[in-house]
Amino acid sequence: MTVPILEQELFEEGKLESGYVIMFEMGDSESHSFPSAFPSPCPICGSAEGPRDLCPLALDGVERIYQLAECGACRTRFLNPLPSDDELNQFYSPHYYGSDWYKHEGKGREFGRVMLSRDLKGKFLDVGCSLGFFLNGVRQSSGWQVYGTEISAEAAAFAHDKLGLEVRCGTLGGLNYPDSFFDYLHINNVLEHVKDPSGFLKECRRILRQGGRCYLSVPNGPVESAGFLNYYQIENQPVRARNGHLYFFSQAALRFLFQETHFRIVSSRTYGLRRGLRALGYLPQKPGWKKHYRTHAVVPVQSSIQLPARKKRLPGYYAFRFWQQRLKMLPGFWKFGLDFEIILQAD
Ligand SMILES: [Zn+2]
Repeated sequence: MTVPILEQELFEEGKLESGYVIMFEMGDSESHSFPSAFPSPCPICGSAEGPRDLCPLALDGVERIYQLAECGACRTRFLNPLPSDDELNQFYSPHYYGSDWYKHEGKGREFGRVMLSRDLKGKFLDVGCSLGFFLNGVRQSSGWQVYGTEISAEAAAFAHDKLGLEVRCGTLGGLNYPDSFFDYLHINNVLEHVKDPSGFLKECRRILRQGGRCYLSVPNGPVESAGFLNYYQIENQPVRARNGHLYFFSQAALRFLFQETHFRIVSSRTYGLRRGLRALGYLPQKPGWKKHYRTHAVVPVQSSIQLPARKKRLPGYYAFRFWQQRLKMLPGFWKFGLDFEIILQAD
């Protein structure tokens, strides 16, 4: 998937902001009313309690307006109704490839060095590997056999043809890997984009050997979606859900999903602390934060992948960046962080 990496970059560069929660009464302006089409029972926890619509959301390039709905039992928030495949294709048009991909290669190298065992040269799968730069880095530093999946045909072709990686195009479930084929799965900002997170994690568990590890990064749903509600309260306009996230998981929902799919949490970390505190109103918001939530005309689609030139960087730059980011993480799950990093083990 191409969007998550862009999003991470924008966060790193300070261009992408969350909103913050302001505690005041709703004004008397007319609120938007959209019919709810939420599937019942809740697709995460199975509760039949029914959803609560919170605010209207828009996706770039898609005409339909969705609702941000919340399950009363597990507090997961999601787009209601879930977008059709056509609508998702409209949203994921290939205009996302202008950034510095080489730093993902550097990150992959450090990941391979630090997170993967040196003794076990196992099979590593990056689910939603985009252009494959991260995967290429893992291959360079770890000696593991690396594989990737990617739903964008253009990105998968780039990873396969230009980088020579074993990358296949399709959804994870559609690619039919054998049972227990992989030793390590890397799932970076993907879970919140899939329509059936439970089915997706079940498939991950099926293709991972018993005792295998799974690296998962996922936004902290209540904090990420706080900006939507805040913007809607102020502007009373549908909010632009620019990242295309379909689900905003609560901690309870994540724990439920892991348990249901036979994964055990080995460790967890919280990051995005400053952005999380801003989103919750504990730190002042940056000027201009509202523009990220405003709907606008969509940029014309670019059909070919064009990358900028590789930047010259000092030796050790990527290792420095890797450790700098890790040192900013807090161990455990914290309510005020914007993102979680979770290591799971297949039980
Ligand atoms: Zn639920």
